[in-house]
Amino acid sequence: MAPTARPSRTEDVPLRLGEGRISGVASILLGACAFVAVLCFHFPEYLTTPELRAGYPHALLRDLLVGGMVLAVACGAVSVFHSRSKRLGLTGIGLALAAQWLGGANIEIEHRATPLVTFGFDWLVLALLANTIVFVFVERVWPHDPDQLTLRKEWKLDLLYYAFNHVMISVILLCTTFFSEGLFGWAVHDGVQDAVRSLPVLAQFVLVLFVADFAQYWGHRLMHENRFLWNFHAVHHCPARMDWLAGSRIHFAEVLFTRSTVLLPIFLLGFSEAAINAYVVWVGIQGVLIHSNTGLRVGFLEYVFTTPHYHHWHHAADPEAIDKNYAANLPVLDMLFGTYHAGARDRWPATYGVVGKPLPHGFVSQHLYPFIAKPARPAEENVRSAAHRAATPSAEAPLAAR
Ligand SMILES: [Zn+2]
Ligand SMILES: [Zn+2]
Repeated sequence: MAPTARPSRTEDVPLRLGEGRISGVASILLGACAFVAVLCFHFPEYLTTPELRAGYPHALLRDLLVGGMVLAVACGAVSVFHSRSKRLGLTGIGLALAAQWLGGANIEIEHRATPLVTFGFDWLVLALLANTIVFVFVERVWPHDPDQLTLRKEWKLDLLYYAFNHVMISVILLCTTFFSEGLFGWAVHDGVQDAVRSLPVLAQFVLVLFVADFAQYWGHRLMHENRFLWNFHAVHHCPARMDWLAGSRIHFAEVLFTRSTVLLPIFLLGFSEAAINAYVVWVGIQGVLIHSNTGLRVGFLEYVFTTPHYHHWHHAADPEAIDKNYAANLPVLDMLFGTYHAGARDRWPATYGVVGKPLPHGFVSQHLYPFIAKPARPAEENVRSAAHRAATPSAEAPLAAR
């Protein structure tokens, strides 16, 4: 029996103007960002990303910090005035005041040596603000399911995944760089790299998109077809509702596995910096978009690029879609390897989630799950791949799609 999460006050209750909860959540988001930004001003060598730090316009950042703190207090005041519960508004105001108390925008930045491992809190704040603004807007204006709430059940868990996987960017880069350069440096061929770099940037971009997606396709498919690896990937499949934040639910080991898989061909082929940067921006947007609760359709382009409709089917618990639509960017890979299923044009999945035994709730328990999952009876197993379903016919129907 699936354990039932106790809904909090901000989960599964529609946000309405005038109740003070929208302003309360905005106040907390801004206050938390301001608080983290102040810590970054104090300890830039530990808490910011070296690659981003070098290009920051400090004067603009200080102005944004002041604006963020003022807005956090203003939104908090609106929330306190309108809401019966003062908790949200007071928390947001408290975070903004704490940021000011710790020095606010007046902190002198000291330049110290960068340690081997840093934490990307600046990357987290920038990405979170940009993604929230863009995708909440897109999901409200062009929703697939207009009844789904922005602050739906388990949004806090997914926000924690989002934060962790952004803050750990330096660790991810260290591990993936070691994997490709440390273990496969011997395979680099200057002639091949020169030939790739001699191509126009647009051609390099198309090529990098294809080879990276090819590697990701097979890594992804392997995670579905291998029982041990599936227990890691099941974490990504367990959200019962899809939106831009739900795509962040990825076991940290899977993050390392997938990024390493994708980086290897990019490293070996030696693409130009411009092509790699274009690819990074593309997948940064696309990876969030395809999970979003967005009903936007793009006609024939849906055969060229993956869309929310396409990837929602990959997350479907509907039997017809199990182990389909692996591609992250290019549906042609699924067409080539026999796993294409886009569903009927106007049909969307009925349910999302894992088929079979549900996963535990919680960030730590989901990270421990692949290591401590007991061998279950076949009918209870958290089964997804077609091969496993064939061996366990009783798991054919979704037992407990979360
Ligand atoms: Zn998958
Ligand atoms: Zn996904």
